[in-house]
Amino acid sequence: MEQVLNLIGGELRPAIGGGWLDDHEPATGKVYAAIADSDARDVQAAVEAAEAAGVDWRALGREGRSKAMLRLADLIERDLELFAQAESRDNGKPVHLARKVDIPRAIANLRFFATAILHFSTEAHQMDGVAINYTEREPIGVVGCISPWNLPLYLFTWKIAPALAAGNTVVAKPSEVTPMTAGLLSERCIEAGFPPGALNIVHGLGPTVGAAISEHPRISAISFTGGTRTGAEIARVAAPMFKKLSLELGGKNPVLVFADCDFEEMLRTTVLSSFRNQGQICLCGSRILVERSLYERFKSAFVERVKALRVGDPKDPASDLGAVVSGQHLEKVLGHIALAKEEGGTVLCGGERVRLTGDLAGGWYLQPTVIEGLGPACRTNQEEIFGPVVTLQPFDDEAHALQLANDSVYGLASVVWTNDLKRAHRAARALRTGIVWVNCWMVRDLRTPFGGMKQSGVGREGGEEALRFFTEPKNICIRL
Ligand code: NAD
Repeated sequence: MEQVLNLIGGELRPAIGGGWLDDHEPATGKVYAAIADSDARDVQAAVEAAEAAGVDWRALGREGRSKAMLRLADLIERDLELFAQAESRDNGKPVHLARKVDIPRAIANLRFFATAILHFSTEAHQMDGVAINYTEREPIGVVGCISPWNLPLYLFTWKIAPALAAGNTVVAKPSEVTPMTAGLLSERCIEAGFPPGALNIVHGLGPTVGAAISEHPRISAISFTGGTRTGAEIARVAAPMFKKLSLELGGKNPVLVFADCDFEEMLRTTVLSSFRNQGQICLCGSRILVERSLYERFKSAFVERVKALRVGDPKDPASDLGAVVSGQHLEKVLGHIALAKEEGGTVLCGGERVRLTGDLAGGWYLQPTVIEGLGPACRTNQEEIFGPVVTLQPFDDEAHALQLANDSVYGLASVVWTNDLKRAHRAARALRTGIVWVNCWMVRDLRTPFGGMKQSGVGREGGEEALRFFTEPKNICIRL
């Protein structure tokens, strides 16, 4: 059986305690690999390795670090197909999605920050005739990066790349549910001659390895992506230690469909924004709000398209949806569907587990599900489901649409479909989300600020925001 080992000080190592966790293949429901079940001792070893590597990593300078990161990106690109197959097998997502989105984006993350750091500059503030101030942005030291299972290598590299580029050394923890591609990355680090200890990857459970990272007194910043409850726990531990925190958390994203939109384009994209990656993208739209005059037309066309989606073998190019990530997650999503029915919702399509045959009989497949008839206050419209489930709600006018959209503790992303330019600007300004897409979805420029308001997070990733997060600004004032 394959083993997923830690990368500490440039070496692949099992957990100090010698334990292993099961890694499941969602397509079959079977265990297929063993993951190092690390604990605080492994995190301690990783912190020591990161501290020992700090001076040399910084001494490489921007260009040296950039070259090391670009070499790593090249090796992932060389092995793109292997990474895509591994991501699909570990997560359950269709391999065509991993090939087209996850792995190319992981490569792009490394290249983007490897080159962004070459252009990163600081400010100077002149005080007429009195003094000049200039700002230095120094690396923080050892930083912690903790990532989730939905876009495993994509989100893992989104954190480690700016951290490393800025001159920090890193102790990183991928999700224990999907550790495989971070394991492959570790092997490529060694092959690329990546300076030992600059990047350390510790596998294991959240409450042990993740908690040891948040609690460690010599890890001075934490960049976390995951659930809101976990984010709150990390903040509870790390905030009194005055660690810098970047928290990218859950969402309940609204999609506002106005009657004047380009119907076909909206419909095609809304199917994607609802069910891509089995609905397991933090940016997926889960509350679809439709102008009343368009509601019936939208509903019948949308349900028809959703019924035509194929749930199947992640390896099959014809599968639109693969398996959800785990048996536990499948049960959680099914529980939300049962709750929606109890709350009086009508399931327009889907709602059931899909049973495939042969090797895939034990896999965790779920029909894409559309629910209507629920008000904004019910749990189904308030709680994050994070699976292939969306609700439909009609609205009367723009004010009503915005009220429904903002009626959430979350504020990550929103989508507005309209051809009225003024309305697009008004809505974009009024929406309480960190990201607003108008007439599109998941169009990403890596230079833009990325993150959420309210319980969707604290801070922003992306571009200079990330480089600023991973550096400590210092003002130097010189009397003229
Ligand atoms: P999760 O919070 O369960 O786990 C995320 C990571 O945190 C994992 O590596 C886990 O091991 C670790 N962890 C768990 N307990 C911990 C603890 N006590 N201390 C430190 N680390 C701990 O989330 P998940 O189920 O892996 O991912 C799904 C969630 O992630 C959803 O809520 C989704 O919305 C969110 N998400 C947000 C974004 C975003 O950019 N805002 C992106 C993707 C996913």
